[in-house]
Amino acid sequence: MELSKRQEQIIEIVKSNGPITGEHIASQLNLTRATLRPDLAILTMAGFLDARPRVGYYYTGKTGNELLTENIRRLKVQDYQSVPIVIKEHTSVYDAISTMFLEDVGTLFVVNDEACLIGVLSRKDLLRASMGQQDLTVVPVHIIMTRMPNITVCRRDDMVIDAARKMIDKQIDGLPVVKAVEGGLEVVGRITKTTITNVFVELVTGDHV
Ligand code: ADP
Repeated sequence: MELSKRQEQIIEIVKSNGPITGEHIASQLNLTRATLRPDLAILTMAGFLDARPRVGYYYTGKTGNELLTENIRRLKVQDYQSVPIVIKEHTSVYDAISTMFLEDVGTLFVVNDEACLIGVLSRKDLLRASMGQQDLTVVPVHIIMTRMPNITVCRRDDMVIDAARKMIDKQIDGLPVVKAVEGGLEVVGRITKTTITNVFVELVTGDHV
């Protein structure tokens, strides 16, 4: 997060004079309390300053790096997951390739008739299957997918950082977000390397992508 010049000034004032009221900060900057309110709100939310009722603002002493780390650790999968693209196990490899293009995703999740997760298909899985002589319109995806129990999953209330770590450890591009149901796991979302890229940009710019 980049601070404005005025926000930097406020931090300096609070650092040397805190605890200090908003009124006093404003008078040191020759501004009104109302003008300062948004800046104080931002600095408090970001964790640079803390506000105590009837005492005033004081400097938390946390560096930008510490605050960034704290913010990253707070992010949950449920706030960043995207829509999962799911296909049935008897879908042909040909149709899976079409779905991947149409839906513009790199990973498809395969489910059985009970809508429970049984497999994952990546771009390379489909490329590999396309190199043989088979008729792709008749080969079902369950022949070539990575199957349970070898699928790495995450849950809605997991932390994004833990999902990211799993993708690195297992060298995969995405994880299904799952929920336990009778008979197995239902796919309720997905987290991919693109998700992590968006989080990275958001942390710097403050825009939720
Ligand atoms: P790509 O094949 O496009 O490089 P990945 O790195 O995600 O994409 O996939 C590598 C292999 O890992 C593939 O065989 C794929 O089926 C498998 N795979 C992908 N996602 C998962 C997952 N969440 N759990 C287990 N295996 C996976």
